[in-house]
Amino acid sequence: MANANVRVRFCPSPTGNPHVGLVRTALFNWAFARHHGGTLVFRIEDTDAARDSEESYQQLLDAMRWLGLDWDEGPEVGGPHAPYRQSQRMDLYKDVAKKLLDAGHAYRCYCTTEELDARREAARAAGKPSGYDGTCRELTAEQKEAYEREGREPIVRFRMPDEPITFNDLVRGELTFTPENVPDYGIVRANGAPLYTLVNPVDDALMEITHVLRGEDLLSSTPRQIALYKALAEIGVGNGTTPSFGHLPYVMGEGNKKLSKRDPQSSLNLYRERGFLREGLLNYLSLLGWSLSADQDIFTMDEMVAAFDIEDVNANPARFDLKKCEAINADHIRRLDVKAFAEACEPWLKAPHANWAPENFDRAAWEAIAPHAQTRLTVLSDITANVDFLFLDQPVEDEASWTKAMKEGSDALLRTAREKLAEAEWNTDALKAAVVAAGEEHGLKLGKAQAPVRVAVTGRTVGLPLFESLEILGRERTLARVDAALAKLAG
Ligand code: GLU
Ligand code: ZN
Repeated sequence: MANANVRVRFCPSPTGNPHVGLVRTALFNWAFARHHGGTLVFRIEDTDAARDSEESYQQLLDAMRWLGLDWDEGPEVGGPHAPYRQSQRMDLYKDVAKKLLDAGHAYRCYCTTEELDARREAARAAGKPSGYDGTCRELTAEQKEAYEREGREPIVRFRMPDEPITFNDLVRGELTFTPENVPDYGIVRANGAPLYTLVNPVDDALMEITHVLRGEDLLSSTPRQIALYKALAEIGVGNGTTPSFGHLPYVMGEGNKKLSKRDPQSSLNLYRERGFLREGLLNYLSLLGWSLSADQDIFTMDEMVAAFDIEDVNANPARFDLKKCEAINADHIRRLDVKAFAEACEPWLKAPHANWAPENFDRAAWEAIAPHAQTRLTVLSDITANVDFLFLDQPVEDEASWTKAMKEGSDALLRTAREKLAEAEWNTDALKAAVVAAGEEHGLKLGKAQAPVRVAVTGRTVGLPLFESLEILGRERTLARVDAALAKLAG
């Protein structure tokens, strides 16, 4: 059932480069919002000046635009809860912290780091829970004054309830956290800076978020946040409701380790540079915890949106499989109509990817070869090396290919092939017949006979179908390249 009241948020911190785990979270929130006809809020959690950067912020926006994950409220589009960058909302958080203190939901904690560490160690050694022990929960006015006189600078700590917290995770089912496992926690630093633990739920409350869909790594903060929402409702911050939570499964990388942000495989920029289609990448990322149906791996974002619901997300860890990601991308490349494919390749047909002189680019040749390339590419960036033989004055010199293809007798084969090609009608079938015939004269099957021809003409042992390539390259240039190879062999 569609529910237009759905309000979800994507709220990354602008640190480092966007990674696939982040994109998966954005995608699931976006698909959920779109499925329900609800609202996606894009919020920037930039409260940690030491780690956040403007560059990273710009990259996040750029990534979302490139992915086509549009948002309804947030940077650049505004909305009723603006501003959407937490760095611009600091006064508001300080005000909430004060209200929490006044109402007794939070208290000043004067413990020093050394004291906390020492008590934690002692608790651990005694086999007791090692979280905050509540020392400052009930300080008297005199004790507080004494600490203040000592010059101690308190943090603000949230007072957790003494009862267990149970909630129904939309992915994992009912979960219960007992008080000893969720101690009182800091919400404002000694220097007055509000922490993630405060600002994230405060904004979820103020922005009237209905569903929090995020990675499982944040599960341990959920009972704290649920307790904080209740307190916020009591002091009149937000609309008084607690959102539902759904924790998306871990994404595993190589071995049995979680895929990390630092893993090269996880950098979104890398996928863009390699020429993944947004549809291909998103299709693959959607499979990290979800599926459209048991027998359909390839689908469009429209299909995903129509089908997506959070209850269908699987709690088991998902495995990131680059090969499958590439295969799905290849499928999406094949699904494009050939014009759209040719357009999508454009960036890779220019500098800095292409190293031919721009005036050498021949649009007719490109249009002729594009359909042959489309069925064979995994990523768009592969196009450059596949078609450069058409636009370079001389084919690339790839020594490994040369050594592999040019065997004893290759010169004789190439001479025969040259004669037959020179006489052939210039079309794919006739060119193939010419090379077949040349091979027969030297006792070589087509595969063996065509290898030296391919390397002579394209510079490489692998590439697009050879005879189509020769037809498009033309008689004159083909023969000139075979001649050049013969000269090199004669050395
Ligand atoms: N800014 C937090 C992060 O990037 C958001 C966590 C959440 O979704 O609650 O980890
Ligand atoms: Zn304390």
